[in-house]
Amino acid sequence: MLYARFAPTPSGFLHEGNALNFIFTWLYARKYGAKIGLRIDDLDPFRCKDKYVSYIFKALEWLNLTWDEPPFSAQEFYNFFSYESKRQRYEKFLLHVKALKSTYVCSCSRKQLQNSSCTCKDKNIPLVQNKSALKLNLKAFKDEVLFDVNCANLADPVLWRKEGVPAYQLASLCDDSLKAPCLLVRGDDLRESSAIQMLLAKTLNLKPFCDSIFIHHPLIADKSGKKLSKSHLAPPLDFSKTPQFLYVKASKMLGLEPCYDLDSLLEAFGKKESFFGSNTGGEK
Ligand SMILES: [Zn+2]
Repeated sequence: MLYARFAPTPSGFLHEGNALNFIFTWLYARKYGAKIGLRIDDLDPFRCKDKYVSYIFKALEWLNLTWDEPPFSAQEFYNFFSYESKRQRYEKFLLHVKALKSTYVCSCSRKQLQNSSCTCKDKNIPLVQNKSALKLNLKAFKDEVLFDVNCANLADPVLWRKEGVPAYQLASLCDDSLKAPCLLVRGDDLRESSAIQMLLAKTLNLKPFCDSIFIHHPLIADKSGKKLSKSHLAPPLDFSKTPQFLYVKASKMLGLEPCYDLDSLLEAFGKKESFFGSNTGGEK
């Protein structure tokens, strides 16, 4: 069975773009019979806040979106699904990743990387908290084009941070590979992350994850044409309104007649064949 998930980060209040991603995820999952989970990515202890965690549950309730696996409340999340409860699993996963020929440890400071390129690759530097980070050497994958992304053109992503915590790419793959194959519905801004995670999964030979289906949907922009994001201070969802306008927006983005509630949106969505294009790593 395919596994889909809402995967918000509790580092800010959710905005319309997040809500639309949840709606698309729900639609795809319900249409294709995937199970839905809720994964709250609280990897960054400095930016993740309790008020944002409870806001996630409120937003999903406001949108009328259902999911199939716990956590179903903030308390349940803190008790059983927070970063602390998954840390050991990430550390185990790290051992496999660190052993790959295509990863290396880098001890460059941010400033050094701004001024010159990293020369740590062949130095066999040990991974030590507060001193070094683990990175994926993308130059090792010259001909890999995944989801229209030429991996060799990207900067080497950090997999394990200097602070001694997993970076998003590693944590996300570690979580998803447990539930794979996945139905990953993401905004277009995560296309490069999808490529990096798929590359890593292939290198680690994580077969079920490699059979995952990826959907990348367009992002909505604000009035000035900027893509909505928490870092651009997109306004938070306003729970005093009805969420109807978001269902209408979602139907328009999907090329459907305006739908005013989730049931009619799912019905209309179910009748059409495909949206946004989907693929399994560009191997067609
Ligand atoms: Zn370096």
